[in-house]
Amino acid sequence: MLIILLGPPGAGKGTQAERIVKEKQLAYIATGDMLRNAVKTATALGRKAKQFMDQGQLVPDELVVEIVRERLQDPDCAKGALLDGFPRTVSQAIFLEQVLPTVCSGIDRVFSIEVDEKELIERLTSRRVCSDCGASYHLKFKPPQVRNVCDQCGGDLFQREDDTLETVRERLQVYKNQTEPLVKFYQDKNLLERIDGNLEIDQVYKQIAGIIEKL
Ligand code: ADP
Ligand code: ADP
Ligand code: ZN
Repeated sequence: MLIILLGPPGAGKGTQAERIVKEKQLAYIATGDMLRNAVKTATALGRKAKQFMDQGQLVPDELVVEIVRERLQDPDCAKGALLDGFPRTVSQAIFLEQVLPTVCSGIDRVFSIEVDEKELIERLTSRRVCSDCGASYHLKFKPPQVRNVCDQCGGDLFQREDDTLETVRERLQVYKNQTEPLVKFYQDKNLLERIDGNLEIDQVYKQIAGIIEKL
């Protein structure tokens, strides 16, 4: 099975992904997490990616497709995978179509998680992320049980450098210009499911799980 989560920054992709991969035992491929790790460990990729990420711009396609190509070869992807934050451009989507036949039978569903802009800004500017496992929290909507400590793994929570109001605005614009065209791209292929992401976390999950159930 191959599932793609599409949606603007703050839509809840990571939050939903955490539950879906656990429930469905899918490999989790989040290019944002992979890139942040590369920046943290200062690899060659990380050094190139950092400037783009800090500014809220996309990392160039040729860098991102290489990490996805490698990741798809890992043994855990054989039983199925969930892609979070990839593809983000039409050219990445075309790359995926070309590489997928060597990995699995193809894309099963693309979920477009749709949320109002005002809500996205509120979610992102109070988001906290686990430095160890990448789990997402929110100061108001999803606070951890112990302040600044991850419920899942006990790791420290931090605020992403790109979750400032200014960079968030830039990222939302980048989404509209470069990623939103993928909604139509996948709709034309009859793979798209629109999900109301304004609802509570459990309600959003129910919509997605209900569709995956029938695949
Ligand atoms: P994305 O991966 O799409 O950028 P996240 O899953 O990190 O989004 O969620 C963004 C922020 O919004 C986090 O702080 C998260 O806790 C919170 N959040 C996620 N889903 C919801 C929801 N349905 N309602 C309220 N807050 C949410
Ligand atoms: P969010 O959870 O807010 O949607 P991500 O964690 O997915 O953000 O991505 C953070 C940053 O990493 C992006 O702003 C971009 O710079 C970079 N990035 C992640 N995935 C991709 C991708 N598929 N193509 C290009 N850049 C990416
Ligand atoms: Zn954690």
